[in-house]
Amino acid sequence: MAEKCVKIKRATLEAISKAAKNLYPNEFFALLGSTKKNSIIDEIVMIPSLYGKEHASFRLDLVPVDFSIKGSVHSHPSGSNFPSRADLRVFPKTGEIHLIISYPFTINNARLFDSKGRELEWQTID
Ligand SMILES: [Zn+2]
Repeated sequence: MAEKCVKIKRATLEAISKAAKNLYPNEFFALLGSTKKNSIIDEIVMIPSLYGKEHASFRLDLVPVDFSIKGSVHSHPSGSNFPSRADLRVFPKTGEIHLIISYPFTINNARLFDSKGRELEWQTID
């Protein structure tokens, strides 16, 4: 499969960074969406979830559908920004692009993966 570079709006990534910091030591979870046809990730979809130290759970049936869901984002309070085994089970159910941001949750602590847990190239767009 061809290498694809995921584009994510800088403001969206900054909002993710802030939310992850705010929820620490709990895990932040949301969906990533795109409001435009160019598929730049520019939307965070907060959905009703139960935050916990282990893993956030959520209900996909409560997700609004007025734009396309591209994937998910969650924080790792632990400091590792690679997917856990549980993450790899959840990824295929929530889209194709999955962002993990680890402690201390700066933009440089973010990594993107596909639904199989392979790391994706990405860049921010202003
Ligand atoms: Zn995880």
